[in-house]
Amino acid sequence: MVKVVKNFVKINQYTRPGLKLSGVKGIVMHWTATPGAPALNERNYFNGTCIADKRYASAHYFVDRKEAQQIIPENEVAYHAHDRNRCYVSFLKPNANTKAIGVELCVEKNGKIHSETLQNAAELVADLCKRYGLSTDKIVRHYDVTNKNCPAPWVSDSSQLTAFRKKVDSLLGNKTISKTTASTSQPSKSTGTILKKGSSGSKVKALQKRLIAAGFSLPKYGADGSYGNETVQAVKSLQKKAGIAVDGIYGPATEKALQAIEAKKKKSSYKLPSDIYKVKSPMMKGTAVRQIQEALAALHFYPNRNAKNHGIDGYYGPDTADAVRRFQLMNGLSADGIYGPDTRAKLEALLN
Ligand SMILES: [Zn+2]
Repeated sequence: MVKVVKNFVKINQYTRPGLKLSGVKGIVMHWTATPGAPALNERNYFNGTCIADKRYASAHYFVDRKEAQQIIPENEVAYHAHDRNRCYVSFLKPNANTKAIGVELCVEKNGKIHSETLQNAAELVADLCKRYGLSTDKIVRHYDVTNKNCPAPWVSDSSQLTAFRKKVDSLLGNKTISKTTASTSQPSKSTGTILKKGSSGSKVKALQKRLIAAGFSLPKYGADGSYGNETVQAVKSLQKKAGIAVDGIYGPATEKALQAIEAKKKKSSYKLPSDIYKVKSPMMKGTAVRQIQEALAALHFYPNRNAKNHGIDGYYGPDTADAVRRFQLMNGLSADGIYGPDTRAKLEALLN
């Protein structure tokens, strides 16, 4: 069994509100998106800087290759899986923060989640499932709850969630492979990877948004959540372009093709300015500032996550400087809130 270190952060409004959970109905899996930071660093961040920054965030467990740091008691609320009243997983409605335990996977310097980290997390989650009487289909991704890109490697490849559930199942001594459907109000929203004409729900909507962003437009109906002829046509165009079987059905091969197109787009979409940006009076503003803000937001360092568009407004004000400072702090840079060549290089390394 993984070593669990109880290392609770102090009670405070931003990371540990001290509210009681209304029971444990599921486990929400996350990744820290912070390459090279071990569990203890994360714990210290949530006991210090995160509070100082007045940022509402936390999770119960942080797991790395060595151990699991438990930073919030299991019967208390952590702020990990709620966003503007969104909750797409039926058994965690209306607010996953009050019904689930959040487990964060730490990330290696190379941006990947180490297999030992996954093993540790599986042991921890198996123990949680046993103690709370949860089947492994109650293990979901942050993505399933609010559509956030978290844990990103499990979003781009949903079979990793299935593999993780399987691992937990085998630790629990279950022979049956956990169901990948059912248990949510929208079957298409779970980990099933086949969508086709007649499918509907938030998973279809998410696919449609990605199709549009990738250049396969849906001019008449847009991302309406129902897989009709227009979506069939868009998927067919994608399949044709990728040189795979053209059937208009979204499955693993189509997912792979779509990812390849997205990866190409992403490389070119995070352009970053090479000048120095900082808080000045009057404020520096414009496209370059927006590029910095978008790159930060893509890595979850929002200028202001409670503001409109997460505070991405094209102005280099205190919020943006603060996001830069948090990013620098978590990435071993000198945390001065000034965007320059080092910060740029780190952002680029993480995004591309
Ligand atoms: Zn998350």
